[in-house]
Amino acid sequence: MKSVVIEQSELQEVVSYNPATGAEVGRVATTTADDVRAAVERSREVFHTWKKTSFAERRRFMMRAREVILTDIDGIAKLISAESGKPFGEAIAMEIAPVLDLMQHFARNTEKMLRPAKINIGLYILMGRSSKIVYHPLGTIGIIPAWNYPFSIPLGEAAMALMAGNTVVIKPSELTPLVGLKIGEIFAKAGFPEGAFQIVSGAGETGSALVDAAPDKIMFTGSVGTGKKIAMAAAKNLTSVVLELGGKDPMIVFEDANLELAAGAAVWGAFCNSGQSCSSVERLYVQESVAEKLTKLIVDKTRQLKQGSGDAEDVSVGAMSSERQLKIVEDHVNSFREAGAKIEIGGGRNADFSPRSSDSRTEARFPLFFEPTVISGATNEMRAMQEETFGPTLPIATFRTEEEAIRLANDSEFGLTASVWTRDYTRGRRVAEQIESGSVCINEVLYTHGIGQTPWGGFKNSGRGRTHGREGLMELVQPQHIHTNRFAFIPNAWWMPYSATAIETFRALATKFASGSIFKTAQLLPQLWKRIKELR
Ligand code: NAD
Repeated sequence: MKSVVIEQSELQEVVSYNPATGAEVGRVATTTADDVRAAVERSREVFHTWKKTSFAERRRFMMRAREVILTDIDGIAKLISAESGKPFGEAIAMEIAPVLDLMQHFARNTEKMLRPAKINIGLYILMGRSSKIVYHPLGTIGIIPAWNYPFSIPLGEAAMALMAGNTVVIKPSELTPLVGLKIGEIFAKAGFPEGAFQIVSGAGETGSALVDAAPDKIMFTGSVGTGKKIAMAAAKNLTSVVLELGGKDPMIVFEDANLELAAGAAVWGAFCNSGQSCSSVERLYVQESVAEKLTKLIVDKTRQLKQGSGDAEDVSVGAMSSERQLKIVEDHVNSFREAGAKIEIGGGRNADFSPRSSDSRTEARFPLFFEPTVISGATNEMRAMQEETFGPTLPIATFRTEEEAIRLANDSEFGLTASVWTRDYTRGRRVAEQIESGSVCINEVLYTHGIGQTPWGGFKNSGRGRTHGREGLMELVQPQHIHTNRFAFIPNAWWMPYSATAIETFRALATKFASGSIFKTAQLLPQLWKRIKELR
């Protein structure tokens, strides 16, 4: 870890640096494993009262938390920008605005979404039976997020969990510990009961302690490697996990697409947050006939981008968040070069920001600016077209046919998001449905994590389970089936003791009742009556 250091001698503090300057943003004490366990125990106790609050009460708390955010939008955005390096405006547009929308949505709609629902049980209703589903909160939800959207991801997941009646313990990323504390402060100011919402601080060890403390569910966002470790550790306690992991998201541009718009989308999709989004455009496949034109448009737009410290209003591309991540980008760009791809623009650390300070403990060479880099002539055989880069690079490859585009897009271990660009919406939908990823946009890129109303999650190694939307809410509750028998004056035909009549009845149940046909089931009535008489 490079732009953050844990004081290794005593594992006491996480130090947070501004990646655009190297200046220390602050220090946060590391929570010990014992204290993490205590936090989870406390959370469990509070759960027993929190789960009994009405949806109306929870809604009031959540709307107050929104108000707290609304009164300090700029202050929060500045902190996000200082810790992560992203432009201040991007923190508002891509973190604060979407999470405010998510909060109001779940504050207003969770009750309706979790309303007990009748289940269609087919012909069992003829036996006076009925079934309904009641949703119960799970208990304590442990949230372990990444650093790239340090505000919106943990806060959004926590808001959904709390609205569903759970309590929450968050272990923010060690790269953005102060944003984590800020989330805690917001919920405290909103008046949530103490213990309903807690923050524990630290790096991987603290995350690991949270998993070992056996919360009722883990919501994890991060790399595939850590996701596997967490899944294994959680399995010891049968803790279920939602894993939101990496991506290598393809953008397919057909020759009939609006190329000007596609170019703008590609630039934003690849370079916003310095390319450090799980749903960044990491591979662009363009139809051969328009490849040159689209590449030129993209390069021209990239040339206009100003890079710099996130607090300046006209900066579009900020610093990367860590030296470790920057080195992966350097390695991938070099590997593209060595494999024969062409660097159209960018290609290295931004020379305008020569290292001003370095931290001997972290080896970070601040400031951490990597130029927005466009690469043409990429192919899927190149290593950097397979591994997640998570940086400001946009490799461009070409295809000839629709089938080839789909094959190339699916040739990846990841499947988080993808996009298809065409004016032919029939083709857009046809292609979208053949792409192996959790979300596919037609003539749009990247931003659907911002629509809290829709499910978010990956196919293949991009994850397990969902956050957001109805599907994400269902991850935070357990369904209970309530079954009622209103014919409680006669025995069931399948009860003991068994007999020849019983066997004959069971055969009839299998052949007639289980057909689902009311007509066939009616033929079974004499046999059923015989059997019931036998039992009375
Ligand atoms: P990471 O896996 O290094 O760390 C993620 C979190 O896990 C951090 O809070 C870290 O402290 C914690 N952690 C590390 N080791 C742990 C352990 N053994 N037990 C418990 N917790 C542990 O990931 P990162 O570098 O912070 O984030 C980048 C990755 O996140 C990228 O792969 C990106 O694609 C992915 N990501 C995915 C989504 C999504 O929605 N699918 C969203 C954002 C980021």
